[in-house]
Amino acid sequence: MERFNCGKRTRGIRSWTEISLSCLENNLKIYKENANQISEIMAVVKADAYGHGDKVVSKFLSERGVNFFAVSNIDEAISVRQVGVTGVILILGYTPISRLHELVKYNITQTLLSEEYAASVAETGLPIVCEFAVDTGMRRIGLNCDDLDKCEGIIREYSKILNINGIFTHLCVADSQRQIRFTVEQIQLFDQLCKRISDLDFPYRHCMNSAGGLWYQSKFSNINRLGIILYGLKPDYENTLPEGVNPVMSWKSVVSMVKEIRAGDTIGYGRSYSASKNMRIATIPTGYADGYPRLLSNKGWVLINGYKANIVGNICMDQMMVDVSDIPDIRLEHETCK
Ligand SMILES: *Cc1c(COP(=O)(O)O)cnc(C)c1O
Repeated sequence: MERFNCGKRTRGIRSWTEISLSCLENNLKIYKENANQISEIMAVVKADAYGHGDKVVSKFLSERGVNFFAVSNIDEAISVRQVGVTGVILILGYTPISRLHELVKYNITQTLLSEEYAASVAETGLPIVCEFAVDTGMRRIGLNCDDLDKCEGIIREYSKILNINGIFTHLCVADSQRQIRFTVEQIQLFDQLCKRISDLDFPYRHCMNSAGGLWYQSKFSNINRLGIILYGLKPDYENTLPEGVNPVMSWKSVVSMVKEIRAGDTIGYGRSYSASKNMRIATIPTGYADGYPRLLSNKGWVLINGYKANIVGNICMDQMMVDVSDIPDIRLEHETCK
């Protein structure tokens, strides 16, 4: 049986995650080595750094020379600023108009989502630093680039009234090898727009996410907004990541009970698993209330002592059962990881 490395044992907790900052640093290094063009890195730390802890991750990366950070909202931006990050912090989306004044206080860059939003920002009269979002196909936020004349006009108009220092767009299928054309066209639109407004001298121009930065090129983009691959995960299951990129997070728990069951027994709620033979079953005190997807009932697996153990039966609220029939020497409080 194949055996995997599960790491050190931690006592006294039922279910926990571990974040490897050295792994994070290594992923960043490998990503830069494999990026298609030389660009600055903007670490995307939105949604609590994809669940990895935005404060710890941002502080760590800031201390290692990352100068750009992206978040999804003003509360995230403030908390990242408050741990001592000195670089640019860009809010990729909406900030309520009533809170725009806080951006100035914390020196946070706001995305202009639309012409209407830019007008609202201008109305405050505050010296807010902004970047214009442009829409090249995602249809989420930004000025629609289908009409480049109009887009250019709006950017020129607002660059006279607002403190705009950047422009960006977002790729929506850069992780798919089957829709290369769409991504190439998105980047072409972005580059055309950047060329038209090059006299405005925006220092920051960016269109690449994790996948885009690995597999595409832009003449004008000078920052890669690096999210998911920084955390060691694939943008799409079909992707192959550069050698050496690994998940930063591991999720661990312990064995709370080991028991024998007989052929014909069923396991768990709904009796969705029937034992065709006598089996040894371990119970793990982690379930869907802890965030473990119930959809992985009878599908997922955990590692115990480095061996794979399949989940059997429906995942419960705070517990799950796994098959340890073929795994030697499983005992109470053996650590599991996923
Ligand atoms: C989430 C997000 C990213 C990061 O994308 P990844 O695929 O995780 O690298 C970059 N840019 C924008 C605008 C985003 O919303």
